[in-house]
Amino acid sequence: MSTAIADNLAAIRARIDRAARTAGRDAAGVTLVAVSKTFGADEIRPALEAGQRVFGENRVQEAMAKWPALKEEFPDIELHLIGPLQSNKAKEAVALFDVIETVDREKIAAALGAEIEKQGRRPRLLVQVNTGEEPQKAGIPPREAVAFVARCRAEHGLEIAGLMCIPPADEDPAPHFALLDELAREAGVPWRSMGMSGDFEIAVSQGATHVRVGNAIFGHRDYPA
Ligand SMILES: *Cc1c(COP(=O)(O)O)cnc(C)c1O
Repeated sequence: MSTAIADNLAAIRARIDRAARTAGRDAAGVTLVAVSKTFGADEIRPALEAGQRVFGENRVQEAMAKWPALKEEFPDIELHLIGPLQSNKAKEAVALFDVIETVDREKIAAALGAEIEKQGRRPRLLVQVNTGEEPQKAGIPPREAVAFVARCRAEHGLEIAGLMCIPPADEDPAPHFALLDELAREAGVPWRSMGMSGDFEIAVSQGATHVRVGNAIFGHRDYPA
């Protein structure tokens, strides 16, 4: 099991390197976020021992149960929140996460601004963009994304590091990744979090700075998260 996870990580890193080279990019500009949602310390530990330090979780509650102990043991862990954030969890999210990728509405921006002020802890923040404008999906509509980033700065004192998207499951992701890259350029933010197990190489070709890979590293999740 543990060698499988280390092998999977090495294989994913090699594929990121190749995709970056093919795109004429430096692979050092692409961070692998290992998505460990639903997996416990038994699966996370082999990834840590293989040198992986950047992880993604989609639920605040689940992350609070798993990560504080591991962060004590490995102080250079960088933990990303990649799932929806409720404003009543902003306090816990600011205290635990190093990057919050899912700033997706004014109310959350305000809650995060207040918590960051109060705690003096400054997680990096990404705005989630609903590139496919899917009604059931979180995120700022593409046409409002640049203005939303500006409002986060001006009205909530939030420095936005980049944009994140989850393209529609049944569409070619490439145009969505290209759109996110273009919006990030327009907004003047450096990070683009895009691409998952099935499409991270395409995301790298379109400018991803962060790819979020779960089951290709940890195996299939037993329950949907
Ligand atoms: C679960 C999840 C991922 C990882 O998906 P895999 O298909 O397991 O690679 C990436 N991004 C988000 C937002 C997720 O919720």
